[in-house]
Amino acid sequence: MRSIEYIELADKYGAHNYKPLDVILTKGEGVWVYDVDGKKYLDCLSSYSALNQGHVHPKILAALIEQAKKLTLTSRAFRNDQLPLLYKELADLSGYEMSILMNSGSEAVETSLKIARKWAYCVKNIPLDKAEIIVADGNFHGRTITIISFSSERLYKEYFGPLTPGFISVPYGNADAIRRAIHKNTAGILIEPIQGEGGVIIPPKGYLQEIRKICDEHNILFIADEIQTGLGRTGKLFACDHEGVRPDVMILGKALSGGFYPVSAVLSEKSVLGLFIPGEHGSTFGGNPLGVAVTRAALRVISEENLIENTAAQGMYLEENLAEIPGNYIKEVRGKGLLIGVEMKPEAGEARKYCEVLKDRGILAKETHETTIRFAPPLIIDKQTIDWALPIIREVLSTKP
Ligand SMILES: *Cc1c(COP(=O)(O)O)cnc(C)c1O
Repeated sequence: MRSIEYIELADKYGAHNYKPLDVILTKGEGVWVYDVDGKKYLDCLSSYSALNQGHVHPKILAALIEQAKKLTLTSRAFRNDQLPLLYKELADLSGYEMSILMNSGSEAVETSLKIARKWAYCVKNIPLDKAEIIVADGNFHGRTITIISFSSERLYKEYFGPLTPGFISVPYGNADAIRRAIHKNTAGILIEPIQGEGGVIIPPKGYLQEIRKICDEHNILFIADEIQTGLGRTGKLFACDHEGVRPDVMILGKALSGGFYPVSAVLSEKSVLGLFIPGEHGSTFGGNPLGVAVTRAALRVISEENLIENTAAQGMYLEENLAEIPGNYIKEVRGKGLLIGVEMKPEAGEARKYCEVLKDRGILAKETHETTIRFAPPLIIDKQTIDWALPIIREVLSTKP
């Protein structure tokens, strides 16, 4: 079948909740993907950081196949021999005492909000139904009704009310705004250490440390959504590590399972996560042996292949070179590790147009918020591949499409 036929099928029978680039992918290997015509592309999006380990990593694939032959799902009505091992490995990796496994990132965010509210009522003694959670303008935490209730994007929420109360949004990167928003019923602060979907927005230095301080002073939970920034993407295990800050609640997803399977998790101390009692929360597929075996392999790949160190090195190299692109169209290049945003000037035209030209030249990247192009290749990328891509990116971004 030709590309155009796939596109027609999708447009006719599928909901139009995305506006994908018109490339029909059929195969992936490492940092590369192939379309139905056999054309090869460098993946510079990594499925929004879910593919940190690269496409179809052979070790994760082997774990998936081996586990799929043995046992895939028990539900949590029974125990399985994979989940306890992952709990221990997550604790050893992160330093958090406990974890809870879910599937999508949104579910993990919802889980963190539920446990923060329970903590507020049972530990902080906030009157029932009065807990409030502070979030930041420009946030992206997922698509459920509660989560979109505190989004600042009209498109995400306008037609989906009535919305969930109990949230207050303050400008991102401004610790004083958080201070002003706090009152006796504040339970937690939910924040992305870098706003990925918001346009790769990096807060001022010291912001996360300030949040930590505020949370300690006022007995508030610091909840970090590291679904996109965690697990090596920024050149440290967690983006919060850049400021030496340890949130009370850590939300992970995406790369947790190396792109094979939806797995998310919330990590915290026993004093918080230990508050859940049987029946209060759950998920049929959460913590299933197949997903867990995949996750264990995906985490091993991050450490065995030194992906965090590689990300710090290649990220710096890529960002420096992007920053040196000549011409009049780039407003700013910003990033950490291999999460890099190139913001185009208004007169450069839509970022989407540049992504379309990049696609034709064999590089897949995606615009976020009309003006910014995100470059976030799998963390296994090497210098040679970056050197292949740079001249193309340089040419495309200095020529108005
Ligand atoms: C992708 C993302 C989510 C939502 O994850 P889903 O798996 O799409 O539900 C939440 N927070 C952040 C920061 C993300 O990047």
